Amino acid sequence: MIRVGVVGYGTIGKRIVSAVLKQPDMVLVGIVKKTPDYSVKVGLSKGLRFFIPNEDLTHLWDEAGTKFYGTTAQLLEECDLVVDATPKGTGMNNKMIYESKGLKAIFQGGEPPEVADLSFVAQVNYEDSSGKRFLRVVSCNTTGLARLLHAINQEYPIDKAIVFLVRRSVDPNQDEKGVIDCVVPSFGISHHAKDLKTVLRDINVVTFAVKIPVTHFHVHMVSIKLRNGASLRDVIDLLEETRRIALISSKDKLSSTAKLFDFSRELERSRADFYENLVWLDSICVEGEWVHLMQAVHQEAIVIPENIDAIRAISNSADATTSMNLTDSSLSIRSSRFF
Ligand code: NAD
Repeated sequence: MIRVGVVGYGTIGKRIVSAVLKQPDMVLVGIVKKTPDYSVKVGLSKGLRFFIPNEDLTHLWDEAGTKFYGTTAQLLEECDLVVDATPKGTGMNNKMIYESKGLKAIFQGGEPPEVADLSFVAQVNYEDSSGKRFLRVVSCNTTGLARLLHAINQEYPIDKAIVFLVRRSVDPNQDEKGVIDCVVPSFGISHHAKDLKTVLRDINVVTFAVKIPVTHFHVHMVSIKLRNGASLRDVIDLLEETRRIALISSKDKLSSTAKLFDFSRELERSRADFYENLVWLDSICVEGEWVHLMQAVHQEAIVIPENIDAIRAISNSADATTSMNLTDSSLSIRSSRFF
C-alpha cells in the first residue's frame, strides 16, 4: 500500500482525497488544511485525519473546537509521498519541506514547471516518470488539450493546432472573486500553449483565451491541421477509442454546459464531476486537412485521474496501462460515447 499525504484541501485537494480513498493500493494517511471550515467538519465526520501547516495555527483550530492530529512535519513522518494541492505558488515553497524529509511529491498546474522533474499527463508521458522524484500534474486546460492532441497526433500527425479557450472565471465556491457581466481576453497567445509544450514538445500549437462569468466548465474550440488528413469517420472512431475522452451529442439535448452540469447530477456522479474530456460529436467536422471540434472540460475534476496515476508513477508501483485501468475503474471513468 502506498501511504499518501495530501497537503491543501480546496477544490483539487478534496477530490484527490476522495479518489485516493477509492484506490485498492493506496492508504490516505492524513490531510493538511489551514482553516478549520465546514469541509473539515464534514471530513472529520467521515473519519479523515487533519493536520495543520504549522503550530502558529493551533489557536485558530482550538478556538473553533476542531480536532487536529499535529503539524505537516508530523504527517510527513508517516507518508511515502505527498500530493501538494495548495494555491498557486505555495507548492514551490513547500517543496523544500518535502525535500528535507526525503519524500517524493506531486504538485499541481498552478506551480511553475521548474517545481518538478516532469510535467505529467498520464496518457502522454507516464513511462517518463520512472526514477523521478517530483512530478507536476498540469492544469485542467492543459490536461484536456494534451489528451486530445496527443491521441490525434499519434494516429494522424498534426501540422498545426489552433485553440480558442472560453474559460470559467472561478470555481463555484469562490464568491470572493470572479468576473461579472464581461468577457476578459488574454491578449496575444495565452499561457496555455507554453504549458502544453511542457508535455507535448513536438506539437505546433497556439492558444487564445477569454474568461467569462461562469463557474462550471471551460470550453475549447479546436482546429487541427493534419499533415495527411483524415476522414470524419476516422476522427470519430479514434476519439471513441481514446481513454478518458467521452463523446456527447446535442441530439440528446446536451447542448450547453448547463445541461452538462445537470447531466452529471442525473448520472449521480460524486460532486457532479466529469473526469473525461467531453467532446461534442456534432461539433466535429473535417474540411480538407483541417479537423474542427469543441470540447468541455470540468475544471474541478479532470486532473484527478492524473494525480492518482502520478502517485503510482513516482512510486514505480505499476506500469501505465495497469495504473490507468485501476484509476478508470475505481472512478467509473468513461472512454467512449455516452449514448
Ligand atoms: P483552492 O484555493 O481551492 O485550495 C487550496 C487549499 O490549500 C485551501 O484549502 C487553502 O486553505 C489551503 N492552503 C493554503 N496554504 C496552505 C498551506 N501552506 N498548507 C496547507 N494548505 C494550504 O485551490 P485549488 O483550486 O484546489 O488549486 C490547487 C492547485 O491546483 C493550484 O496549483 C491550481 O492552479 C491547481 N488547479 C486548480 C484547478 C481548479 O479549477 N480549481 C484545476 C486544475 C489545477
